Amino acid sequence: MEDFEFDCLVVGGGIVGLTAVLELSRLGFSVVFIEKYSPKKGPFDLNTYIRNVSISHASHELLARHVDLPLGHAGEFTSMVIWEESGTEVLRFEGEDAGRDQLGWVFEVTPLQEAIWRKVESLKNVELLFGEIEAIDLTSSGVRVQFGSREISARFMVAADGAASSVKSALKVRTRVWSVGDAALATVIQFKGDHESTAWQKFTADGPIAFLPSKDKQICSVVWSQPLELLEKRLAASEEDFIKELQILSGDKLGVIEKVGMRISFPIFQRLADSPMPMQRVFLVGDALRAVHPLAGQGVNLGIEDVRSLADLMKSDRQPSRSEIRNYFNARRLKSLSAINLMSAIRQGYRAKSFIPVMCKKSVLSAINSSAMLKKLMVAYASGL
Ligand SMILES: Cc1cc2nc3c(=O)[nH]c(=O)nc-3n(C[C@H](O)[C@H](O)[C@H](O)COP(=O)(O)OP(=O)(O)OC[C@H]3O[C@@H](n4cnc5c(N)ncnc54)[C@H](O)[C@@H]3O)c2cc1C
Repeated sequence: MEDFEFDCLVVGGGIVGLTAVLELSRLGFSVVFIEKYSPKKGPFDLNTYIRNVSISHASHELLARHVDLPLGHAGEFTSMVIWEESGTEVLRFEGEDAGRDQLGWVFEVTPLQEAIWRKVESLKNVELLFGEIEAIDLTSSGVRVQFGSREISARFMVAADGAASSVKSALKVRTRVWSVGDAALATVIQFKGDHESTAWQKFTADGPIAFLPSKDKQICSVVWSQPLELLEKRLAASEEDFIKELQILSGDKLGVIEKVGMRISFPIFQRLADSPMPMQRVFLVGDALRAVHPLAGQGVNLGIEDVRSLADLMKSDRQPSRSEIRNYFNARRLKSLSAINLMSAIRQGYRAKSFIPVMCKKSVLSAINSSAMLKKLMVAYASGL
């Protein structure tokens, strides 16, 4: 029987990797956790961190089990409204359609990540290391990695090192890539009206734009997916021209836009690794497993769901059975594929100049509005329940 220094090695300290550390530690595993960089604050303007993530009820519940969530840096949304540039159809979902007070929360990433880091640092059965592993050796019953001059061994490994996962590359895991060709522009805006605790999303021929509520009623974060060439122009546009464009897009939903914060951009990928468990004792979670279009804001929620399923699989002290592993494998793969395919369909829809008629022809839209069951399904999707 091989001896291992730790039960588990987690690589990557984004929100998903940190959540994996919390859950595995809760199960009583000894964990070694390796992150490339020490935590740093993200871009900040108009009193708001610009990078945001949408957190569903399920993710909130799991995180709140471990951490006092920084609700002072989150906007809750009780409604979601989707409308389009050309056309008059509007989809509206309310928290109460899902039997909830709210559909979800939009958290500023920096304070959320800092709260989870603080908790992880306080855990007795977790050793935290900054840097990168150099070599991975899978043995018959575990994993050994080289970290500087130290060899680290663990019974199993969780790769949460993001879309460009180096664990995935080192293990030569094949990845399917869906061509997207878009990038996203993110910023924050201040306006005269009130965001009404609503996640506003508009589908335009260039791509979807979301105005997401922040803790302040007159501030929304903006995530705007668009072709690269337009993104470059919009990053370079004067503040006045940029505000004018946002004003046309938001219409009268938020009132007059007074200020816009710094603009950042990030690439959009849709990718899926061949397997959520490419080798025995190696699990891929979060963006290391699949990256989805930010349109529905489900990246972090899907990753937290991976962690929840992994914790369920590993919760007993015996080795999971083949059928448990097969169920885990199938469930994670199916969930990833459905999210990617749905995002691809939506993207094709808006590229076809009109989202709603393509996704849910008008008769279907009215069917959704008049069918309690269909509406429930759409609400579940919209809020990542
Ligand atoms: C700039 C940016 C903005 C985004 N904005 C939005 C948004 O507005 N809405 C939305 O829905 N989604 C957004 N996304 C996507 C969303 O943030 C991701 O789906 C989510 O963060 C995935 O979490 P993760 O923990 O799996 O990966 P990540 O957050 O990518 O974390 C991976 C971690 O692994 C670490 N790492 C990488 N390589 C190594 C290594 N070799 N060794 C050790 N550690 C390593 C990294 O430093 C990082 O901390 C954005 C992504 C980016 C990059």
